[in-house]
Amino acid sequence: MMLRLQKYNFTITYKKGKHMFLADTLSRSPRDSPDEHTDDGADFEVMSVQHISSSRLKELQTHTAQDPVLQRLWSIIKSGWPCSQSKLPAEIREYFPFRDELTVDEDILMKGQRTVIPESLRSEYITIIHRGHPGLDATKRRARGIVFWPSLTKDIEKEVLSCSVCNSMKPHPQKEPLHLHHIPDLPWSSVATDIFEWNGQYYLVLVDLYSGWFEIDLLRDLSSSTVITKLKRHFSVHGSPHKVFSDNGTQFTSQQFKEFVAAWDFTHTTSTPEYPQANGLAERAVRSAKHLMEKSKRDGSDVFQNLLNLRNVPRDQTLCSPAERLMSRQTRTSLPISKSILVPASKNNVAVKNQISKKRHCQKTYYDKSSRTLRPLLQGEVVRLATSKGHDRIGLVKQLCDEPRSYLVEVEGREYRRNRKHILPVAEPPPQKLDHSEMSLPFVQTPSAESKHKFFTPNEVKEQCTPQGTEKKPLNEHSTKVLSTAPYVTRAGRICKPNPKYLE
Ligand SMILES: [Zn+2]
Repeated sequence: MMLRLQKYNFTITYKKGKHMFLADTLSRSPRDSPDEHTDDGADFEVMSVQHISSSRLKELQTHTAQDPVLQRLWSIIKSGWPCSQSKLPAEIREYFPFRDELTVDEDILMKGQRTVIPESLRSEYITIIHRGHPGLDATKRRARGIVFWPSLTKDIEKEVLSCSVCNSMKPHPQKEPLHLHHIPDLPWSSVATDIFEWNGQYYLVLVDLYSGWFEIDLLRDLSSSTVITKLKRHFSVHGSPHKVFSDNGTQFTSQQFKEFVAAWDFTHTTSTPEYPQANGLAERAVRSAKHLMEKSKRDGSDVFQNLLNLRNVPRDQTLCSPAERLMSRQTRTSLPISKSILVPASKNNVAVKNQISKKRHCQKTYYDKSSRTLRPLLQGEVVRLATSKGHDRIGLVKQLCDEPRSYLVEVEGREYRRNRKHILPVAEPPPQKLDHSEMSLPFVQTPSAESKHKFFTPNEVKEQCTPQGTEKKPLNEHSTKVLSTAPYVTRAGRICKPNPKYLE
């Protein structure tokens, strides 16, 4: 009876029976079921920690007894809470909002049905709760059902976000917004090239980014000299372009190709390895070339006649056909055609450029609907590189490359250039191997089990990676902002994520 009434705050007043109308009526009401038990206290719930094994319980009792904060909390629970939070010792204040739920049972503290864990055991308990590597939210949900301490959520976040196994298995990030290539002002000013395989043979494709005109060449081998010879032939017809885009095939990164670039006076930009989409315009030309060849094969028609026809198919009223954009005229096919149509007529290149830009922005709008911008990375930031097995290679960001969204990442002493899409920033300690390299110091492991790895913020890492006296530059124009929005680690070891809306 006493236990049942504990949750009520009431005052007992004696009243004579003649004034207790309701109670008097009830006391005369006969029972329908005479065998119903009347034993007071028989069905109250016992708060117990029996789910904890005896060895764990003993450990918990010992550590609770040794924890000065919990001991203080214990005495406050026993003696009663003050009416105001400010009257409590500072270290107990964070327990004040839960004062009605806190109890003592079997020499350990409870918050409702959750066990209050002393500080010395918290890390170990998170490890146990994270067994099997459930995700961050799942780990929090599991913990919130059984254990309690004020910084539980933050401590779990710190542990799970720095879990190397979880990080290495994270899925590849969602696609990034479409990066629009610069639209050239003139025909054959910017071209993209790529090599593809079709029907057991290799081909070179070369596409003009202004007109969409593409050339296909059969390659007898994949050497640099063969590729260069094919390119030279086209450059001799249409002129030497200002810019050439390609992937990182050895044909395009060889010394011979560098000499070709210098001799023909154009700039050469390569896409990020493992991210061929960056050379998207050449990729699209490859797709068109493959379709053309496959369709020609299937209907047994002449691939070159088909190519001639495709080059004369107008895109729209402004853009017209690739032939008209590149050569300011239609080229003659086997169709009967008026001579006047074959007369060269120059295109308004500003209108063409605007129309290309309009079409690209339209594509971008559709593409970007399901994309998300990934934040730029900082020099010295700990990251994982995506491979076919997940994000299983840990390293440090060395620098931002000239190519868009491209970074140089050092992994086990080797440097890799990767697109931002394939780099996952993680809250793990920097890889140990780099301790002995020139980018030293970011990782300190203390022997104590309680004080785990020391974490350094990207800023701290950057400071330590920068030789004294040299100017520290952000990686790009966005970095200053990123610096302030990046998660950082407090002295107490908590990961803090500043809310961007408070940063201005
Ligand atoms: Zn994990």
